[in-house]
Amino acid sequence: MGSGVQRKGGDVATIKSMGSPQACQRQQELLAEVQRILLKLSELARAESKAMESRSENAWLEIDKQIELTIGEKERSMGALKQHRDEHGC
Ligand SMILES: [Zn+2]
Repeated sequence: MGSGVQRKGGDVATIKSMGSPQACQRQQELLAEVQRILLKLSELARAESKAMESRSENAWLEIDKQIELTIGEKERSMGALKQHRDEHGC
């Protein structure tokens, strides 16, 4: 009945990514981490600004503490990124 074998033209395009010298896998992870922290900082800064606007001093001081901590995080993740780039030469 049915002559059922269909042949598919085999045009499979495989794109090989050559490791870009600019951003290795590890560097991309470290960069993403720095960016995540920077975004967190900007959210905290906005929240602090609002707290100041509404004169809620407790919230303001609390957020300020978090900003200090987050800046510490950022310093560390930036340091890790720089160190990786030095050691890896990427
Ligand atoms: Zn690297």
